[in-house]
Amino acid sequence: MIYCSTRDKSKKPISASEAILKGLADDGGLFMPMDIKKQDFNFEEMKKLSFKEIAFKILKIFFTDFTDEELRNCIEGAYDEKFDTELIAPVKKASDMYFIELYHGKTIAFKDMALSILPRLMSVAAKKHKISEDILILTATSGDTGKAALEGFKDVSGTKIIVFYPENGVSKFQELQMRTQSGKNTYVSAIKGNFDDAQTAVKEIFSDKEFGKFLKNKGYRLSSANSINIGRLIPQMVYYFNAYISLLRDNEIEPGEKVNITVPTGNFGNILAAYLSKRIGLPVNRLICASNENRVLTDFFKDGIYDKNREFILTSSPSMDILVSSNLERLIYLSCGGDATLTSELMSKLKTSGSYSIRDNMKEFISDFIGGSANASEVLEEISLMMKDYNYLIDPHTAVASSVYRRYREESRDLSKTLIASTASPFKFSETVYEALGQDKDSNDIFNTIDLLSAYTGCKEPRAIEEVRKAPILHSDVCKISEMRDEIKKLLKI
Ligand SMILES: *Cc1c(COP(=O)(O)O)cnc(C)c1O
Repeated sequence: MIYCSTRDKSKKPISASEAILKGLADDGGLFMPMDIKKQDFNFEEMKKLSFKEIAFKILKIFFTDFTDEELRNCIEGAYDEKFDTELIAPVKKASDMYFIELYHGKTIAFKDMALSILPRLMSVAAKKHKISEDILILTATSGDTGKAALEGFKDVSGTKIIVFYPENGVSKFQELQMRTQSGKNTYVSAIKGNFDDAQTAVKEIFSDKEFGKFLKNKGYRLSSANSINIGRLIPQMVYYFNAYISLLRDNEIEPGEKVNITVPTGNFGNILAAYLSKRIGLPVNRLICASNENRVLTDFFKDGIYDKNREFILTSSPSMDILVSSNLERLIYLSCGGDATLTSELMSKLKTSGSYSIRDNMKEFISDFIGGSANASEVLEEISLMMKDYNYLIDPHTAVASSVYRRYREESRDLSKTLIASTASPFKFSETVYEALGQDKDSNDIFNTIDLLSAYTGCKEPRAIEEVRKAPILHSDVCKISEMRDEIKKLLKI
């Protein structure tokens, strides 16, 4: 399998391992497989496979310059006891939906699924290309990605990771999660500023040639772990296959039966993985793209116009508070038959004017997708309804998806069985969830609210919360934005 950039007219081919190492193409485009072929899956046979064995089958299709042994090692290292269930991503039926629980890893949210394996793929790719320096991951985080990346890179040979988070810009729980991070190669520092300041400063460090040279002399090569890396996208396909196969195994669906997939969407990575799964042969009917009040994608799927010129709304599903969904570029590219010139043109329109519209043939191409959005009160209602009627507790992100799906089903009368990507543990958003159930928290102590939620619902607290509660604080650095380079030197002792 060969990859090329979505913005490269000459379609210069690069291998999977190079694409993983680079992350983003030099022209600003995203790497895409050149040829996405439908495979002949024998689902009956696959019923015997575990999550890890399914992972091997899928990754092998896309990462063809990795040996079987390399892939197996990456998979074994990624999906181990870090997850609190051997099933890794179990499927639970509630109401007429099947929830794929993607939150059984260390940060109790779905980014663990891909960030557990990306560091291992990177480390192997670096060895393949005889890169002698250590990979140094720099990340600015608004909360979730930072911790998931720290856990993923923890003690992976040939890598180090530094995470910067805004001093007063993440939740208390997220801050604790990061400050208690263990591992020989993990570093965390708060910064005096907001997330945008941190993000901008990290980008500047990435493009600072002189600092890059300095790091290289000290034996480091900068890299990033953001969500456009193909090494994150492809592993996200695995749980859709695994979920489909588990429905087959439980006789919930007939062989060959098509299912819908509903995904609470932000950067468009998770749902794109579902779409790619369909393209290579997973029996999928509709892809339902669920947004919160930042409903750019809902409008896009309705009228073919992407327009980010609107108010940015802070919602109870913060990981979906996004106005520019980076991974959508990949769908745009596919929808125009891989036309890199047109893709570049649309992306530059987005950059300069904040909007673009697609042609009729592209609209036709993406008609598998249905967009929908849920507002604040619909989210609270959905959490409450799912608990009352089905004794199933969901988080606000997942509630966006299930609320959007409920409405779609009523309006369309499409009765296909439907998988819902459940992207965070309800305990990660205890305050909103507890309030949705009509209860008042006693205090601002997050652990207190978690205990109340657990007692009220009878749902067990995830192991990851217990661990954070007991863990010692290992990181206490705070630095100014202007001093981030010095902070990096200090942390690495260089
Ligand atoms: C990141 C995230 C999402 C959005 O996923 P995308 O791949 O960015 O669309 C949804 N829910 C949670 C909890 C997340 O952390």
